[in-house]
Amino acid sequence: MGIPENIVVGSHVWVGDPELVWIDGQVLNINGDEADIQASNGKKVVSRLSKLHPKDTEAPTDGVDDMTKLAYLHEPGVLHNLEIRYKMNEIYTYTGNILIAINPFQSLPDLYDANMMKHYKGATLGDLSPHVFAIAEAAYRAMITDEKSNSILVSGESGAGKTETTKMLMCYLAYLGGRVASEGRTVEQQVLESNPVLEAFGNAKTVRNNNSSRFGKFVEIQFDKYGRISGAAIRTYLLEKSRVCQISDPERNYHCFYLLCASPPEEKEKYKLGDPRAFHYLNQSSCYELAGVNAAQEYLSTKRAMDIVGISQEEQDAIFRVVAAILHIGNIKFAKSEETDSSVLEDEESKFHLQTTAELLMCDPNALEDALRKRVMITPEEIIMRSLDPIGSTVSRDGLAKTLYSRLFDWLVYKINVSIGQDPTSKFLIGVLDIYGFESFVSNSFEQFCINFTNEKLQQHFNQHVFKMEQEQYTKEGINWSYLEFVDNQDVLDLIEKKPGGIIALLDEACMFPKSTHETFSQKLYQTFKDHKRFIKPKLARSDFTVVHYAGEVQYRSELFLDKNKDYVVPEHQDMLSGSRCSFVSGLFPPLSEETAKSAKFSSIGSRFKLQLQQLMETLNLTEPHYIRCVKPNNLLQPGIFENMNVIQQLRSGGVLEAVRIKCAGFPTHRTFHDFLTRVGILAPEVLLGNFNEKDSCKMILEKIGLSGYQIGETQIFLRAGQMAELDAQRARL
Ligand code: ATP
Ligand code: MG
Repeated sequence: MGIPENIVVGSHVWVGDPELVWIDGQVLNINGDEADIQASNGKKVVSRLSKLHPKDTEAPTDGVDDMTKLAYLHEPGVLHNLEIRYKMNEIYTYTGNILIAINPFQSLPDLYDANMMKHYKGATLGDLSPHVFAIAEAAYRAMITDEKSNSILVSGESGAGKTETTKMLMCYLAYLGGRVASEGRTVEQQVLESNPVLEAFGNAKTVRNNNSSRFGKFVEIQFDKYGRISGAAIRTYLLEKSRVCQISDPERNYHCFYLLCASPPEEKEKYKLGDPRAFHYLNQSSCYELAGVNAAQEYLSTKRAMDIVGISQEEQDAIFRVVAAILHIGNIKFAKSEETDSSVLEDEESKFHLQTTAELLMCDPNALEDALRKRVMITPEEIIMRSLDPIGSTVSRDGLAKTLYSRLFDWLVYKINVSIGQDPTSKFLIGVLDIYGFESFVSNSFEQFCINFTNEKLQQHFNQHVFKMEQEQYTKEGINWSYLEFVDNQDVLDLIEKKPGGIIALLDEACMFPKSTHETFSQKLYQTFKDHKRFIKPKLARSDFTVVHYAGEVQYRSELFLDKNKDYVVPEHQDMLSGSRCSFVSGLFPPLSEETAKSAKFSSIGSRFKLQLQQLMETLNLTEPHYIRCVKPNNLLQPGIFENMNVIQQLRSGGVLEAVRIKCAGFPTHRTFHDFLTRVGILAPEVLLGNFNEKDSCKMILEKIGLSGYQIGETQIFLRAGQMAELDAQRARL
């Protein structure tokens, strides 16, 4: 994107900086293909000319609300524009029709109040300041006028603001599509109140976000022929199960556990709960409270939300009994029996928690103890009960807690869907996707693999869309251009999901073969993909593997891949719980049909997730998409701090820079004839003085200057990357 020919001594430029990514400066000297630069922060820098970007000295000092209005569309221009706007609390900026939202980390109530909603109602995208409401408005209007489903895809890293953004979108859609006088529980109210319910059970404090969603979510809002909300469906993806029994400082478990520990005294008594510090699943971390959140109040408001979404009092009681039972399960400890290797309950306290768990789950305490401590072995001769050692029993205990919790979460989603109801006659819908963004940590496991796979899928969808939109604009303006070369990430997707032979397929194979280990699995990957461009065997690791994702390389540790891919309910747990006297609990564990019971050796989480993604993509492909990219400006979760390096990495992995790149491969600068004449007319004053129409004047100026490759459309001039900088350079030489 750098156009070194335009850079001369005295030019204002952007030069790379290890800390700030880009800093601005002025060229002092040019020696061959290198330049000395005096940076505005006082530094003197030497840089290759090809690494410099020209700086637009005429760019408005308060930035532009759409990146495509930048005369020089390049990475430093984009970054600088976002920064100046963020400093003025302008958190929203468009890049064409992609909305970039930078988390303000402070409440901006005026930005989202009823007046603001009224303001955006009926407005055309781009007429008002960039806003989430404008995107929701555009989706709704497009749905009504084109009679086509739309979708809004919200992405970004943890803590970037996806869930908050999604809620505002849903509020605005409820405002547009709600009934005037609401009688009783309306569909839109139920849709909105599903959020606090799912957050109580699916969100937790992490190091990145105090209210981090530990699942992905796609909400499909259905509309009737009058454009009113008539139904909704919620789909969720991959809840993080491990959090139920394992947390580390300063994170927390799912919010619902703490809320229940803060419930009114009679309820605490009923569930035999008290201080959260007493429970192993909570006291592995020393964080119990959330700043600014009153758990007792939150408990009551969660119950109110449950009322609204149609969860009965009886069901609520059963739900909280299961939540409490999970806490008690975690306190059942095992010790080695004195005679054998097998385990026994460690102490009286463990017996109490076992007894309490059995009461809450309404099952037989002996059956519960056996399910935790023993396994049935079927040999051709006989059926024997084998006892587990203390470690085996503890693993079994945690497995039971995770299974219970994930079934409970799935039930909540199912129940909310049933109670809101689907509108079978609905023709159009607006889908809102709130899903985890690209992740790359020091240590990455199966979860990151699935998350990044999701992002590869969405990235492909995004690229194809941006590309299509650009192409459509050219066609409309009568521009003769088609993108010849277009970098696609199909090769990464093949590497991951191809059947047979992709990573997921090889993982499933390994899971089905009893002798496999993560080492044999890794060896198989190394062999299979040794020449694959997107696969690397890291030099210093024995069983890790690296995937070259569109957003960068990620090194995965294969150790737990096999275990984590197996979706497995211990048959002894299944039998015990399906025999519960509580119909809610037994309903979470419907008896397996004989066939599944026999073949239920292994069900693959990876393959099921792949299928879910495929269905999601099919749904999205039937809609007109809109994109919102959320950006987290700093890791301190503080207002007013804009860290360049942090932001640029997110713009890269969110595909914003890729969209810019796609634009740059075509004609990134579009100017109306009038704007063009105002800016560069001075290069040919004789043309301005002549009596020509604007289009002809533009043509004459461009011919006089001798640029090549630009195109003249119906209403606009289309310039190649860097051409505006060249015109400006010529003006500067006048
Ligand atoms: P995760 O992937 O962890 O779920 P997320 O992208 O959904 O993260 P949010 O939970 O939406 O992130 O946002 C994190 C926090 O940032 C919020 O709890 C809120 O404090 C703040 N925040 C986000 N967006 C806004 C906004 N538009 N106005 C004010 N505060 C915001
Ligand atoms: Mg979230």
